[in-house]
Amino acid sequence: MQRKVIQKTQMKIPKVMKMIDLTDSCYDYRYEAPKAKVYTHCDVCGDPIYVGDSYYEILNDERMNVCNDCINTFKTIAGED
Ligand SMILES: [Zn+2]
Repeated sequence: MQRKVIQKTQMKIPKVMKMIDLTDSCYDYRYEAPKAKVYTHCDVCGDPIYVGDSYYEILNDERMNVCNDCINTFKTIAGED
């Protein structure tokens, strides 16, 4: 007869949520590619959201515009945290 022992570990493993590429800043981009029309800005990271881009509107107390990059950082897998 086997009995399963469930161990609860208190270890916290730091997670790297996103990669930041410092060589590719939005300021450099702005001067090199001014053709794309900025529709609005992401309320999380502040990056521009261009006309034709998809983004997310989150309605809470206020409306938030969230870009694709930020929404991906919010994504998590249930039970694996
Ligand atoms: Zn964003």
